[in-house]
Amino acid sequence: MNNSNNYTIILGGGFVGLFTVLHLRQQNYEKPIILIDQNKRFTFKPLLYDLLSQELDESQVCPHYTDLLKDSGVKFVPAEVQEIDLHSRKVKINSTQEYSYENLVLALGNPTGYFGVEGAKENTFAFRDYEDAIALQKHLINCLQQAIQTTDVQKRRHLLTVAIVGAGPSGVELAATLADVVPNWYMEMGGMKEEVRIVIINRGSQILSGDTNKGLQEVAETALRNRNIAVELQMNASATKIEKERLEFERNEHHESLEAATIIWTTGTTTHPLIESLPIPSEKRDKKGRLQVLPTLQLLEFPYVFAGGDCATPMQNSQPPLAQVAYQQGATIANNLKALSMENSPNDSSVSIRGSLMKFGVGEAGANLFNKAIITGEPAHLIRQSRYLTTLPTPVHNFKAVTEWLTDEIFSD
Ligand SMILES: Cc1cc2nc3c(=O)[nH]c(=O)nc-3n(C[C@H](O)[C@H](O)[C@H](O)COP(=O)(O)OP(=O)(O)OC[C@H]3O[C@@H](n4cnc5c(N)ncnc54)[C@H](O)[C@@H]3O)c2cc1C
Repeated sequence: MNNSNNYTIILGGGFVGLFTVLHLRQQNYEKPIILIDQNKRFTFKPLLYDLLSQELDESQVCPHYTDLLKDSGVKFVPAEVQEIDLHSRKVKINSTQEYSYENLVLALGNPTGYFGVEGAKENTFAFRDYEDAIALQKHLINCLQQAIQTTDVQKRRHLLTVAIVGAGPSGVELAATLADVVPNWYMEMGGMKEEVRIVIINRGSQILSGDTNKGLQEVAETALRNRNIAVELQMNASATKIEKERLEFERNEHHESLEAATIIWTTGTTTHPLIESLPIPSEKRDKKGRLQVLPTLQLLEFPYVFAGGDCATPMQNSQPPLAQVAYQQGATIANNLKALSMENSPNDSSVSIRGSLMKFGVGEAGANLFNKAIITGEPAHLIRQSRYLTTLPTPVHNFKAVTEWLTDEIFSD
């Protein structure tokens, strides 16, 4: 057992967790810090499509934590957290290893939710982190290789059909990216791009509905039509059952099905099981089970514990599950941990949402800047690139440079 009890432990190295750590290091925080994440790589999720399309490489989109934290003094533990005991201030990573803490940061995000659709978890690809992107890429290439070798037209059609469940931002950006790159990959093998199908299956009647990206709806629809191959939209179609390479859905009370060698699930989230297991009653959570936190991002009854990002929501000031929000909350948590360590009072977090950026295929994007201007096509792609990429330190070895890159270039106005 690790028994140093002045540790600050951060659970989850996503946008909240990594930014908390980087900001703490910038502020010369004196307490020892442990970051625990189940993955060895940080995933810059808004750029995951660029990894899939090979426009960016893995060191840019998914750097290793050990590289990001080199020379920082932060201990990185690559492990899946099994149990959190808020009363005894302990975190267990397996049956024999646990860590005690003085302060804890809950930054575990939210796993995918499947709305109880039979077979969805078992028979679909996810698209949320490095491993997902690499697995999907390998599978697609494999399908294309099989397709080019078969003379059976029906089998080829099946191998070349990609179904994407959900027309939220992830579904739309992924469909647009795949509709550009998959036909190209197939043509490079000698195939005909017209044989590839990218199909979105969406329960509602509109894409990007009820989302912060709603302002980009029309631009996105046009972009989906104008890809290397047009993306097919199956709207008002509720997935009801997913078997291996076969999706069933209901539309206008009719049952329909789609045969597709690749089915990707991009919609829905659920409460993280560890967050669910905490001794916090339902009235201190929102409808989705997220923890309600004070404006300072502390837990009401455990003020030495902070929570932010997708797994928490500040009381009376609910925030959408966005990297923009999570990153800013990471900065607040770091400031407040530093304040507590100096016996000062923590400050309230304030988050500003600075518009939205979406990728609409290779070299194309949409930018909704503060809801005042919508920019499309290549200019939007350049905005997205300059926000996300141009000053990316290569190789990503210097955590101070990384902090500056992420804070100054990506999220600042
Ligand atoms: C494909 C995709 C694209 C996106 N694009 C955008 C965008 O363009 N703009 C935007 O603002 N937002 C975007 N988002 C949303 C954004 O990425 C999330 O809101 C943000 O990542 C939330 O940050 P977080 O720190 O709360 O959680 P996460 O970033 O999800 O981090 C949670 C971390 O906890 C770790 N973890 C979970 N369980 C355990 C465990 N038991 N033990 C150890 N570690 C664990 C995970 O490995 C992960 O690293 C996108 C999301 C996805 C999936």
